[in-house]
Amino acid sequence: MSDQYTIQDPAKQYEKATPEFEQQQPSPGLEKKMHPRPDDGAGTYRGSGRLTGRKAVITGADSGIGRAVAIAFAREGADVVLAYLPEEEADAKEVVQLVEEAGRKAVAVPGDLKDEKYCEQLIAKAVEELGGIDILANIAGKQQFVPDIADLTTEQFDATFKTNVYALFWLCKAAVKHMKPGSTIINTASIQAYEPAPILLDYATTKSAINTFSKSLAQQVAAKGIRVNVVAPGPVWTPLQVSGGQPQEALKDFGAKTPLGRPGQPAEMAPAYVFLASQESSYVSGETLNANGGMPTP
Ligand code: NAD
Ligand code: MG
Repeated sequence: MSDQYTIQDPAKQYEKATPEFEQQQPSPGLEKKMHPRPDDGAGTYRGSGRLTGRKAVITGADSGIGRAVAIAFAREGADVVLAYLPEEEADAKEVVQLVEEAGRKAVAVPGDLKDEKYCEQLIAKAVEELGGIDILANIAGKQQFVPDIADLTTEQFDATFKTNVYALFWLCKAAVKHMKPGSTIINTASIQAYEPAPILLDYATTKSAINTFSKSLAQQVAAKGIRVNVVAPGPVWTPLQVSGGQPQEALKDFGAKTPLGRPGQPAEMAPAYVFLASQESSYVSGETLNANGGMPTP
């Protein structure tokens, strides 16, 4: 059986977008309703003990990149707390089952990250249920395209910043208090931090803020033995993109402009998070690992 180590042509590893990719759901979308279904790695990800006994909190763990990371972390030996929105329960149930099938503990804590109290409760619950926290993977995010600044409401601008930036601040603040040396924080930026699309004014701005936040915090907590890094994905086939992240008609060409000529899949993002979570990356902090199909970045 093939796994993430099986050598093959990366340009052909997954299909290019087709007209079938043109679809739309209300936000937040459900992975269950996507066609084709994103590859979450459930059929291919092979663990090798890289996170044995670790205790991880993953936001946005129900679907897309967070889901693939939850599966990978569990198969690498970590217990996981899964954060997601209550309306995503159907996706989250599948992830809980996959984590348990890997022989690890899965603790589901649904809630709204725009709420500071929930962010604090999420970390408190992780400490209580897992006996501590040594990996915080901040993967949740909000992306809604708006072509004209005149139509970008204060409500949306605020919600995008609350979800993508404030929650990051609240979760890191709460988690660092409990983290022992060797712990890691992994945040999620985007190619949008470097190549902001005109229709993603609020979103792209938050993604460059996440890079800067992470580089500052990494220096601050280094003396505590905590590392902070970032994964910056390119176009990845997830519910985010089919629930207002992109105009529906753009989806048939999703990822076509990357050098690899196709969208990425969540299963291809998970190994980057595993590397940054594990002790293998002991001398890496304040770094952004781009997983974007080959697009040049600064
Ligand atoms: P996704 O829709 O599967 O995941 C996003 C998750 O964010 C949702 O599942 C939801 O659980 C969570 N979320 C959103 N608002 C929330 C709120 N208020 N409270 C709690 N949870 C909330 O999509 P994805 O593409 O896997 O997104 C994961 C991350 O990857 C995001 O940070 C996104 O910005 C980033 N990213 C995605 C792409 C891409 O092309 N898909 C590219 C670059 C970066
Ligand atoms: Mg989701």
